[in-house]
Amino acid sequence: MSLTPFFGIAQKMHVLNELSNHLPNTETMPVLFVGHGSPMNAIEDNIFSQGMKEIGKKINKPKAILMVSAHWETKGTFVTAQSLPPTIHDFGGFPQALFDVQYPAPGSKWLAEETQKTVTSTNIELNDKWGFDHGCWSVTKNMFPNADIPIIQLSLDYTQTAQYHYDLAKQLASLRKKGVLIIGSGNMVHNFKYAMVKGNDFNAPFAHDWAIEANTTLKKLILDNDYKSLINYKTYSKALDLSAPTPEHYLPMLYAIALRDREESIDFFNDVTVGGSFSMTSIKIG
Ligand code: ZN
Repeated sequence: MSLTPFFGIAQKMHVLNELSNHLPNTETMPVLFVGHGSPMNAIEDNIFSQGMKEIGKKINKPKAILMVSAHWETKGTFVTAQSLPPTIHDFGGFPQALFDVQYPAPGSKWLAEETQKTVTSTNIELNDKWGFDHGCWSVTKNMFPNADIPIIQLSLDYTQTAQYHYDLAKQLASLRKKGVLIIGSGNMVHNFKYAMVKGNDFNAPFAHDWAIEANTTLKKLILDNDYKSLINYKTYSKALDLSAPTPEHYLPMLYAIALRDREESIDFFNDVTVGGSFSMTSIKIG
């Protein structure tokens, strides 16, 4: 089923809305890290999509969203800057219904430029080629189903260290006071080599001992605000090393942690290890 004609009109309306939407907002927005897991969570009614929906309802409507997705890695750092970013179906082997999904939220030139101004440690370039990858829309479709909040994505520079990403993330803090909801989307335990998929159920709630250990360890380090260990996760323990053979699904969690004020509350949701070697554990800060 194609929903394109309807969304075409909706997108134009959203652009108009965005122009009149920049009301003052002095409340500090929360920060989220969301374990996105299987792209099917975008269209399935399951405990994880329900968990995302519940959190979405608890958050005051943001002026805009800055999304750091595991699925946009670049050399250098970019933000999407289109007025109507396309929905990218960056996967294969899933049902047609997933390819039919459109998430027609508008972009935000304002937030793209604000992010450029706010980050001083590196040059952030505007990008008009990317859009919303599934790390973004499989989350926002559940949390904000009306697709009426402007969103930009911030890319992950794959040439840089965890420390670099942590330091970059800290500079985004002032955006939280401007009505911007910052979301990291990845999976803090994510290792395809040890996946155990029963049938087609990517969400079967069982996992290797090391994956369960890694999930528990990471939650403790997060609660203890032990950011040094979180940055140096590769050498912290065998379990943490196994949990992130490549950094892209781990780093979005580090962005969220970097943005936590010391006194801010931490709530975990969707706290389940699945598919042998994945953790859906998600975090609401503030
Ligand atoms: Zn992913």
